[in-house]
Amino acid sequence: MPIDILTITNHDRNIFQGKYIYPVVSRRAGGLSLGINLNTNNACNWQCIYCEVPNLVRGKPETINLKELESELDYWLDQIINKSFLSQYTKSKTEFKDIAFSGNGEPTASKQFKDVICILIKKINEYKLDKKIIIRLITNGSYMANPVIQESLSLIRNFNREIWFKIDGVKEHDIQTVNQVNLSLVTIKKNLEAALNNGPTVIQTCFFKLNEQLPSLESLGAYINFLKLYENKVKGIHLYSLARLSEQPSQNKLTRLTKFELEVIASKIKILNIPVQIFS
Ligand code: SF4
Repeated sequence: MPIDILTITNHDRNIFQGKYIYPVVSRRAGGLSLGINLNTNNACNWQCIYCEVPNLVRGKPETINLKELESELDYWLDQIINKSFLSQYTKSKTEFKDIAFSGNGEPTASKQFKDVICILIKKINEYKLDKKIIIRLITNGSYMANPVIQESLSLIRNFNREIWFKIDGVKEHDIQTVNQVNLSLVTIKKNLEAALNNGPTVIQTCFFKLNEQLPSLESLGAYINFLKLYENKVKGIHLYSLARLSEQPSQNKLTRLTKFELEVIASKIKILNIPVQIFS
């Protein structure tokens, strides 16, 4: 296999064989991220119009083979920590940054989420990675207030951890259009507050042109007003646009925002006392 096969633009999860665990070099993580995909059936409870998951279906993850997941996690940690994986397959100075729940759907929809957290804790302790890497949960937040998810996250309260919480808009119409779910502001508040109570939380927002139209000032204003309520609690905002083509069928035309367009939006959001980072 060629050197430097893993780059920020090559996120092919099939480069290395494995069902649940895959390495990627992530711009937002700032280095090597070991991804955990609990949604091997490409099922999500949302259907964002920009989603890059091929053959996405509505639904929940299928049953996870926990033994297989643990053995894959062990294999990859051994490759990264004890073997020469980083020097062989990534650019020099790439660091191992996180283990991230980042799959082909919503990870917290899995009934075995807590079991997977327990496996993760075991392996992080075994490889003495506590304080060296971050456990990241990349989520649309819909199950965040569920008591089992709360309990699962409380198990990692003494680890470095972050919740990356998706909010692409707060107006019901925008959410219906972009995420294709019915979600009220009350529910978003409940979910976000549950996340904030469980760990440092970074908002993930994808902006793009929809049928040639930039996000409206009204939508942006509502987004800013909503986050104002949490400006001393939210750790940061990640703004990004479409990195790759959407895999979802749609009548709508989606266009990636330029860096300048993202910067203009960021300059408005910076009225908030929350650090904003752009990934273009
Ligand atoms: S929440 Fe994530 S996985 Fe689910 S549809 Fe949206 S982008 Fe895709």
